[in-house]
Amino acid sequence: MGGVVPGGAKPELNKTGSWRSLRPMWDEEKCIQCLQCWMHCPDGSIEIKEEKVTGVDYDHCKGCGVCAGICPVDAIDMVPEGGAECAR
Ligand code: SF4
Ligand code: SF4
Repeated sequence: MGGVVPGGAKPELNKTGSWRSLRPMWDEEKCIQCLQCWMHCPDGSIEIKEEKVTGVDYDHCKGCGVCAGICPVDAIDMVPEGGAECAR
């Protein structure tokens, strides 16, 4: 068994998205852009552009659910991987 490599070290070699059993689905309509999810994601997998959330980096998101738990307006739902329509 290999050790855990920090997600930011070599992103291209360390796509950890396959570990995930739950996928965060971000709802742009509900999002109030407070950036709490971005600040608390342990894997830096919340994508932002010009200080606004634009989506989730599914190549590296491990599906921990921290973002969904911290979102004040329930704009992120955790859904079973493979059992829901994927945003991309
Ligand atoms: S589920 Fe976890 S790893 Fe994925 S975006 Fe949310 S906080 Fe980050
Ligand atoms: S925590 Fe929720 S409301 Fe705040 S930026 Fe993230 S998705 Fe949007």
